[in-house]
Amino acid sequence: MKTIRDIKIECVRGDISKQEDISAIVNAANAQLRTGSGVAGAIHRAAGPGLAEECRPLAPIKPGDAVISGAHNLPNDYVIHCLGPVYGQDKPEDKLLANCYRNALILAEENSVRSISFPAISTGVFGYPMQEAAQIAFSTIKDTLPELKTVKEIRFVLFSEEDLKLHEKVMEEVL
Ligand code: ADP
Repeated sequence: MKTIRDIKIECVRGDISKQEDISAIVNAANAQLRTGSGVAGAIHRAAGPGLAEECRPLAPIKPGDAVISGAHNLPNDYVIHCLGPVYGQDKPEDKLLANCYRNALILAEENSVRSISFPAISTGVFGYPMQEAAQIAFSTIKDTLPELKTVKEIRFVLFSEEDLKLHEKVMEEVL
């Protein structure tokens, strides 16, 4: 755990759809903002069909984009849907992944969100190498911190112990 500019940044092992004390959770979405595998599947399953219904008019989104919706049956206030780049396909992938983190944080700020949880965007079916993705995530957060006023807590939620360890290491190096 780190505290910078009065903002707490931490990594935990868990399920992004079970972050009860967090205001906004970030979805590793698909362009159509529909349910899917991985993070999107878990979020839509827990939220119920109202989430896909609310999202329909907001789709399609492009790599790097972020849009916000209600959280429906999830224990949160908002879901921020980001479309990560497909590794080796959407270019430049590092900029597009950085845009996801930056745009999500700015949207959170615009909606007076106090706490936000991120999954490791693009590192599942989109194939982004975990270490490179983590470096981009933390350096983008670092660059965006000076613009944050309402956001006071940023939590990474990693699915495996290995991914958690890697994120903790990269966080120490980058922040
Ligand atoms: P993408 O399509 O952006 O690659 P995925 O949902 O396939 O997104 O995976 C992103 C990352 O989230 C992967 O590292 C995967 O292991 C992890 N993940 C999958 N399900 C969950 C979950 N319920 N909570 C947190 N992380 C998850």
